[in-house]
Amino acid sequence: MRQEGWRRRREAVLMCVYSNICSLTSIRHVTRELISLQIRQSTITWSSPEHPELALSGEVSSLWWSKHVRDFHSPCPGTARFTALAVNVPRHLSYIHAQILDQPNAKIIQSNLPLSSGLPATLDKAMSLASLTPETCTAVVNATGLSARHLFTIDDPTEAKRLHPIRGQTVLVKGELKEIRTLQSYDATSKTTRIAYAIPRPGSGTTVLGGCNIKEEWSTEADDEMTKEILGKCRDLVPELLIKGNDQFEVIKVQVGLRPGRTGGARVEREVVSVGSEMEKRDMVVVHAYGMAGAGFQNSVGVAGEVLKLVEGDSLQSMSRL
Ligand SMILES: Cc1cc2nc3c(=O)[nH]c(=O)nc-3n(C[C@H](O)[C@H](O)[C@H](O)COP(=O)(O)OP(=O)(O)OC[C@H]3O[C@@H](n4cnc5c(N)ncnc54)[C@H](O)[C@@H]3O)c2cc1C
Repeated sequence: MRQEGWRRRREAVLMCVYSNICSLTSIRHVTRELISLQIRQSTITWSSPEHPELALSGEVSSLWWSKHVRDFHSPCPGTARFTALAVNVPRHLSYIHAQILDQPNAKIIQSNLPLSSGLPATLDKAMSLASLTPETCTAVVNATGLSARHLFTIDDPTEAKRLHPIRGQTVLVKGELKEIRTLQSYDATSKTTRIAYAIPRPGSGTTVLGGCNIKEEWSTEADDEMTKEILGKCRDLVPELLIKGNDQFEVIKVQVGLRPGRTGGARVEREVVSVGSEMEKRDMVVVHAYGMAGAGFQNSVGVAGEVLKLVEGDSLQSMSRL
C-alpha cells in the first residue's frame, strides 16, 4: 500500500511555469561542450580600494566569495583571479529544453497564466492546463522571475513590493575572448560605481560586453548612449577584440534585459497554499524559486538542488501519511 502510494506520487508531474533551474542536476553526466559551458580564467580589477565591495572586505583576499570559487588568488593589489565558467546562454537553454523533453513523462505547456488573480487562482489554472488535481500533483515550482510580483499584489503586497527590475544592457561583438574580464570602477566624489565586463560566449566566436545595473528601470529599449558607454569602457579592457585598422568593435547586436531583483535576496522556499472553491478547499505544495537578480545562471545548479530537496521532502512526508 505504501509502495503503491509512493509510486503514484512519483509519477505525478512536477509542474514548472518555466525555469532555467530544473534539469540542471544532471550536469555532471554530460560533456561541457554539449551544454555550452566552458571553464575560463576570470580576472576582476577594482579601480579604487574605496569601491564598496572592496572597502567592505578590506582587501581582495578577504572578499566573502573568495572561498567559494576555484583557484582564487590576487596577483597584484586590487585584482582577483580565479577559475570560472562561461555560458553560451541561448545554446544552454536549448539544451535544457531538450533535456526536459527527453524525460519519459515530461510535457511543456506554454500559456500566459493570469498571475494578477493571485497565487491560489494561478495554481488552479496551472493544474487544470496540465490536467492535474491537488491529489495528482506533487508540487508546483513557482519560477516566474520578476512576474512573481503580480502573484502577490492582492494577498501579500509586502512581498510584491520586494520584487523590482534591475535593467541591464549588453553588446554582442565579434571575436571570442579567451578569458572573462571585469573592471569595477568607483567615483569617490559622486559615490557611484560602474562596471565593465567581457564574457566570451563559448563556441560562438562572439563575446558579450557589458554593462549596467539600473534598479527600478523598466524600459527594455536599447539606449544608444549606454551602448557608446559600454563600448568605450571595454576598449581598454579587451583591446584584442578591436578590429585591426579601424580600432572599433564589430557590433553584432545590442541586448537589454530586466534582472529579477528581490530585496533581501532570492526566495527559495516551500509553502502550503489552499486551493479550490470555498466548498472544497485542498492543500497544495508550492516551491518558490524566484528573485535571482543577476545570478540566475551561476546559482542555477544550487537552486535546483534546493528545490528538489523541498519537493522531495514533501513527498517523503506524504508517503509516511499513507
Ligand atoms: C544584462 C544581463 C546580464 C546578466 N548576466 C548574468 C550573469 O553573468 N550570470 C548570471 O548568473 N546571471 C546573469 N543574469 C541574470 C539572469 O539572466 C537571471 O537571473 C535569470 O534569467 C533568472 O532566471 P529565472 O528563471 O529565475 O527568471 P526568468 O528568466 O525571468 O524566467 C521567468 C519565466 O517565467 C515566465 N512567466 C512570467 N510570467 C508568466 C505568466 N504570467 N505565465 C506564464 N509564464 C510566465 C516567463 O516567460 C519566463 O520564462 C543577467 C541578466 C541580464 C539582464
